[in-house]
Amino acid sequence: MSQPTIQPTIQLIRGFKDILPGETELWQTIEKTAITLFEDFGYREIRIPIMEKTQLFARSIGEDTDIVEKEMYTFPDRKGDLLTLRPEATASICRSYIQHKMYAQNPVQKFYTIGPMFRRERPQKGRYRQFYQIDAEIFGIEEPYADVELIFLLHTLFNRLNVTDTTAHINSLGCPNCRPRFKEALSSLLDDASEALCKQCLRRKDRNPLRVLDCKVPGCKEAMAGAPALIDFLCDDCRDHFSTVTDLLSMLDVPFTIDKQLVRGLDYYTRTAFEIQTGALGAQSAVAGGGRYDGLVRSLGGPQTPAIGFAIGFDRLAEIVSTCNPAVLKTPDLFIAALGKQAKELAFKWTAELGSNGICTTLEYRRKSLKAQMKQANRAGAGHVLILGESELDSGVAVLRDMAAKTQKEIPLDLVVEKIKQTFSKTCEQ
Ligand code: ATP
Ligand code: MG
Repeated sequence: MSQPTIQPTIQLIRGFKDILPGETELWQTIEKTAITLFEDFGYREIRIPIMEKTQLFARSIGEDTDIVEKEMYTFPDRKGDLLTLRPEATASICRSYIQHKMYAQNPVQKFYTIGPMFRRERPQKGRYRQFYQIDAEIFGIEEPYADVELIFLLHTLFNRLNVTDTTAHINSLGCPNCRPRFKEALSSLLDDASEALCKQCLRRKDRNPLRVLDCKVPGCKEAMAGAPALIDFLCDDCRDHFSTVTDLLSMLDVPFTIDKQLVRGLDYYTRTAFEIQTGALGAQSAVAGGGRYDGLVRSLGGPQTPAIGFAIGFDRLAEIVSTCNPAVLKTPDLFIAALGKQAKELAFKWTAELGSNGICTTLEYRRKSLKAQMKQANRAGAGHVLILGESELDSGVAVLRDMAAKTQKEIPLDLVVEKIKQTFSKTCEQ
């Protein structure tokens, strides 16, 4: 007799992960906290597709960046068009702002979006190939108030989630006016360091020297240790802008550190760049990052529009929040222990009605003894149990047991829904 072939179970894709019940409660809490805060500050939700034409990311994030060179999930579709699973949200939001001519109505727009991003990086703790971001963007405002508003929002959100071990690292990357002088200062160092640089940086050093400063290869890091910093080459306007950012942050009591080495891994940034770092995550210390991108909308075909935004690493934030907040598990308000077909059908009707009135009710559908059902109710942490067996059906009253107080009362069958609604509205008012 031939053995049946055993199929290997299909596992999820490397670097992807499931977020399971037990974790999703926390994700929802974080999401609700963020959305409430964003809406209180006048941000509106935008939902953008998870796939775009590859060109959008190549042109905005930059051909010489790690994301575009190594990390994108890019493939031709059946007609041969090159498509990419989005590695971040800003490029798509800019595309949407331009495509729907939102600037014509009002150049000033504030958006938030929450969703999955895809980067083919080496998977490790805090680094996945599908991960989630909470993203906020302000379009149309050049003034440093926008920069500080966003950093303040991050600070406030983290505080509301009891995450206090964070620091805002800020820097200025200047503007196209400041860059030539900086490149000049950097170029002799880059020429001298040529031998120590990785292959990629050799290619990048003339085209895009800022990228060399962002390289994670140890040899490059070492060679760049004494490199000049862009912040020391700012033009007058950029210097004023940055000093107002720091003044306003101090005014709002937002703690920050000026980090001259902070470069960020995307080409589109100008002026203020920032990262929220924490000691709680080991090597993956950045829980959020962002910055100004005053040239991006225009370079994608829209009108000149200053803009700034941030992205929070949702997975990393959830990881930190779970260590500093006790887990909250939802328990049913009511467990109905019904015995026999007739009782079960009546209880089924009540369950539907109570559930749609916001009372979380569990009914055991399977055939189980009363003892087994009481055990189950206990395990689920139900506050009340309603018992409906044959004798209750005969006498026309069900028994409602308060599990904490260990008291019980009888309720006429035709009044069950009404009385239980009253019981729970009283509990809610207390
Ligand atoms: P890192 O330096 O950690 O690679 P990054 O600069 O590439 O981060 P951004 O593009 O600024 O990241 O994205 C904003 C945030 O998204 C990061 O601060 C991080 O918290 C999160 N993030 C980025 N890449 C990943 C990933 N592969 N897995 C999980 N979270 C990520
Ligand atoms: Mg990265």
